[in-house]
Amino acid sequence: MKFASTRGGPAVSLDTALLEGIAPDGGLYLPQSVPRFSIEDFSETEDLLSIAHRYLQPYFVDSELAGELDEILKETFFFDIPVTPLPVESGSAQMLELFHGPTAAFKDVGAGFLAACISRLNEAGSDSATTPLTILVATSGDTGGAVAAAFDGRPGVRVVVLYPDGRVSDRQARQLTCWSDNVLSLAVQGSFDDCQRLVKSAMADTVLNRRHRFSSANSINIGRLLPQSIYYADASLRHYGATGNKPGFIIPTGNLGNAFACVLAREAGLPVGKIVLATNANTLIGDYLNGADWLPRASIQTLASAMDVGDPSNMERLQKLKGDAHALRDVVRVFSANDQDIQTEIKRTFDEYKLTICPHTATAMFTYRQLTDDQRINDDWILVATAHPAKFESIVEPLIGTSIPLPKGLSDILSRTSHFTRIDPDMRSLETQLDLHTVTGDK
Ligand SMILES: *Cc1c(COP(=O)(O)O)cnc(C)c1O
Repeated sequence: MKFASTRGGPAVSLDTALLEGIAPDGGLYLPQSVPRFSIEDFSETEDLLSIAHRYLQPYFVDSELAGELDEILKETFFFDIPVTPLPVESGSAQMLELFHGPTAAFKDVGAGFLAACISRLNEAGSDSATTPLTILVATSGDTGGAVAAAFDGRPGVRVVVLYPDGRVSDRQARQLTCWSDNVLSLAVQGSFDDCQRLVKSAMADTVLNRRHRFSSANSINIGRLLPQSIYYADASLRHYGATGNKPGFIIPTGNLGNAFACVLAREAGLPVGKIVLATNANTLIGDYLNGADWLPRASIQTLASAMDVGDPSNMERLQKLKGDAHALRDVVRVFSANDQDIQTEIKRTFDEYKLTICPHTATAMFTYRQLTDDQRINDDWILVATAHPAKFESIVEPLIGTSIPLPKGLSDILSRTSHFTRIDPDMRSLETQLDLHTVTGDK
């Protein structure tokens, strides 16, 4: 299986796509053809891991990692991904809980898989003994923690996390700064956009790149997307097996990575029904489907901060796979929830269902309520819960009037010591830190 850039450059192997992250022409890698399955192809699969193997195997055919796929999957999916029923009055609704990983958000799946792949490819490469690979990641909160957790303590790789000082929640800041020596946490005196600019400039600097062997782990890497299809495959097969119905999914959406993974699973023939995107006040995707031009905007800060994206990069993949706005109207529908809607939904879900949800998951709950009665009754729905509410306790607790018990992974993280370095938002400061904190290849 080869992977081609959305912008038409030459096709590369999976291994190259994983290590490069973004194509040299600035495009995003997509499989040249989507492997197709019938539902019967999964009749012998018993659990998520065997479904994952079946689903991903065609992508790994000529990869150096083909023989290690099972190990990679075990390292990635070591926590539960349950589907739990919601006590709705009519119809069928369930919640897909993606927040039981080390940093309590779904990004643990993509980051864990990518780390398992990249660290193996790096070990096999010739440069790994002399210079460690440096994974640069700019984060507005959740991504950096998930990537740091996934690479924590792995030999031959270091992670440099850049986050905007003072603009992430206290608990997110702890998740960004509590790791081993191979994770360097830089608190940038600026905005998320400054962090992203620094990462882009560093990667584009050929001298610096040669010295530090940069790679990126942001959500445009195909290695983050592929494993995210697995939980849609697993949940849809289970539901279809039990009921004969293809469940629809409602997905809290920012950069469109998680939603694209669901589209890809349906494209591959899995029994996924309708796909509905829930956005926050950053409404570009919905506006585009309604006829507006696709013009990147500055992001608006909302309570569902991990979805504050003004220029969702994976639209480029969706357009390449399915076509323009007109065609996409048949693929997905979009609703948007503003901060008021999010707050109302957190409170109402707690009062009605005795369930505590995070602000991102609240956009999916809001969207579910926007469906017509017919839509709620005629289709079975799975709402995607993207983060644990305890990560956003300062928003959720005042609304529900009680404290949220900490899941074990989070309390472990919060008990560790933080270490980070503040830097000015310029390349000289970043370069200085990169040179200061070198780790050896065989740490
Ligand atoms: C990243 C994130 C999202 C948005 O996912 P995309 O793949 O960027 O669309 C939603 N919820 C949470 C909690 C996240 O961390």
